[in-house]
Amino acid sequence: MTRRDLDVRIWGARGSLPVSGAAYARFGGNTICIEVRCGSHSLIFDAGSGLRPAGEALWAEGRRKLDLFFTHHHYDHVIGLPFFTPLFRADASISLWSGQQDGGLSAAAMLTGFMRPPFFPVGPEVYSARIKTHDFRVGATLRPHPGITIHTAPLNHPGGATGYRIEWGGKSVSMVFDTAHEPGVLDPWVIDLIRDADLFLYDATFTEDEFTLCQHYGHSTWQQGVRLAQAAGARRVGFLHHATYRTDDALAAIEAEAQALFPGAFCARDLQVLTL
Ligand SMILES: [Zn+2]
Ligand SMILES: [Zn+2]
Repeated sequence: MTRRDLDVRIWGARGSLPVSGAAYARFGGNTICIEVRCGSHSLIFDAGSGLRPAGEALWAEGRRKLDLFFTHHHYDHVIGLPFFTPLFRADASISLWSGQQDGGLSAAAMLTGFMRPPFFPVGPEVYSARIKTHDFRVGATLRPHPGITIHTAPLNHPGGATGYRIEWGGKSVSMVFDTAHEPGVLDPWVIDLIRDADLFLYDATFTEDEFTLCQHYGHSTWQQGVRLAQAAGARRVGFLHHATYRTDDALAAIEAEAQALFPGAFCARDLQVLTL
């Protein structure tokens, strides 16, 4: 990548629960963790089980200052946090960013609430890194580093979730998970967040057939991802939060069907790197 490239690395594309085995070898089984690399800055979105390999790779590369943004705090988006190598290193600086809606948990409260007996053997006192927490109102615009702008928006998910749009060097990538849609409606918050984006990553847990039975779970469909991309002029849409039961063959079939409708559509896979 050149210094101005915006690089997106998929460390975990699965939803709900990590999976493994021969049927998941191509698309991978780690839960949500996406790195957005803007020059020397690594911004990480969500701390699913994909955060463990991400942490090891980033540490080996010599990256010592990292920003970790949460969409929300469901298990599949935080379970990797206690296994994030940089948190155990005294020369690491980690910023944790968490969107606040009514009744939302602060980043610090999430950390102490989630890492404690009887759910976990030790608390966050085992970390040696310098940890800074940043709680912001969902809807705010963030500027974590010079030249990087991040827009935020509320998503439609039980307990709330934050969508992000990251802009850097004239490029943009949007994170839209976890979220459900109303049939026949294009969420105006989502449209704003993904308008003319080079890439947006979308919660495509369900197919449209499954969605009729599972609407209240707070997830969407790949078909809605295509409709949103077309309406908002996004160049590419990457489906993720793959259902635990969605095998490689099933994802490849979805990808082919989606590409026939919108050539910029694809199913995100673990260890995929997209340079925008
Ligand atoms: Zn999830
Ligand atoms: Zn969730």
